[in-house]
Amino acid sequence: MAARPKTFITDFRHLPPLSDDELDQGRSFAAFLSCVVAIGSMEGPDARVRSPIPCRCRPARRPCPGVILIARHPRHSEIEWRCSECEFSGVITHWEGSSSDFSVTAPEAVEVVAPATAPNRGPATLEGRWHIVEMEMWDKDAIDLLGPGYIEFQKRHGSMRFVAIEGGLDCRYSEAEGRPTVEFSWFGGDDRDDASGRGWARLQADGSLVGRIFKHRGDDSSFTARRFDSTRSPQ
Ligand SMILES: [Zn+2]
Repeated sequence: MAARPKTFITDFRHLPPLSDDELDQGRSFAAFLSCVVAIGSMEGPDARVRSPIPCRCRPARRPCPGVILIARHPRHSEIEWRCSECEFSGVITHWEGSSSDFSVTAPEAVEVVAPATAPNRGPATLEGRWHIVEMEMWDKDAIDLLGPGYIEFQKRHGSMRFVAIEGGLDCRYSEAEGRPTVEFSWFGGDDRDDASGRGWARLQADGSLVGRIFKHRGDDSSFTARRFDSTRSPQ
């Protein structure tokens, strides 16, 4: 018997309220859709993104290896999503102004100014692995719980680890206050639960990286990071 395509049309205003459990664990379909909206809303109209959100399908009881591709319709605000590997797909309408809509908050974090003289701008200056040396919410021992805390940017992708959080990043680069800046959404785990959120970081005059990481409906914390090879101390 052929599998029927699974396309879900969702009016985001009519989502059932999420329980705290679902929010923490990100396991319900509503929590999944919230993550899709969070990432889709960060993108401009016309955007097409390969998100780090894993497909929820389990054909033959094995997890589908696909990730969710997200597209914003160029003329109206619908967010279309589909699995990179299977038929799992859908359309989300009326998500604007919801608690998962990051399109309003994103510009406030980064005020884009005209590019300064060019040699020091763009992803290249931020790419690579940065050691998280300080966070507002946690001390160094907590940051390094799973191994040295870090954030890493590789063109549009990246990863990070601190405290019990490990996640994949979806990155956009710009300049703000005349400095290379990255904004990102992230999706991954916090301890054993799924977790997601957003963040930004900006290169400082002293070569360090300063930014803020937000967990979706959870904590947020500023952080300071240094280039991995510049944090080796002779102790
Ligand atoms: Zn799939």
